[in-house]
Amino acid sequence: MQPARVYIGIGSNLDDPTHQVRRAFEALTGILASGCVARSPLYRTAPVGAPPGQPDYINAVAALDTGLTPAQLLMVLQALELAQGRTRTARWGARTLDLDLLLYDQLTSDDPWLTLPHPRLHQRAFVLYPLYDIAPDLNIPGRGRLSELLANCPPQPITRLDSAN
Ligand code: AMP
Repeated sequence: MQPARVYIGIGSNLDDPTHQVRRAFEALTGILASGCVARSPLYRTAPVGAPPGQPDYINAVAALDTGLTPAQLLMVLQALELAQGRTRTARWGARTLDLDLLLYDQLTSDDPWLTLPHPRLHQRAFVLYPLYDIAPDLNIPGRGRLSELLANCPPQPITRLDSAN
């Protein structure tokens, strides 16, 4: 069977977010039956829809080729969030890593447990910019060309970080 090309959104705003995102890249590289084919640059972004005072996020996107099914992959991503998403010092439950399955080939799903493409992908600069860096020709099923989504997305403070991954 041909592997599927998938895109995973990575975000963190707790507990040294840049380190968390880099660790997530490493963890994604180790997923069974999968290979990481691209890593976007890191971006610093202002929180969207969060109460004031929240720290900025570090965001990035990874591309993987995988033999896992969408459901298997989401379960792996949730396990990685749990493994990396708890701090020793903060109250149990503090989440330091958010992994979103943005796209699985051109598959669509309206299951609330796994909606594909990710339901808010097309409105979020912090997803569209890093996605465009690694896959500028992408078409997002039901939403259109990535380049057009990026041109039309709501303004959001976002800074590309200079440092390499
Ligand atoms: P969040 O707290 O924003 O990470 O949302 C996690 C919830 O979104 C989980 O219950 C997932 O089952 C659900 N979900 C639905 N579609 C997706 C997707 N494409 N990627 C990741 N989580 C998803």
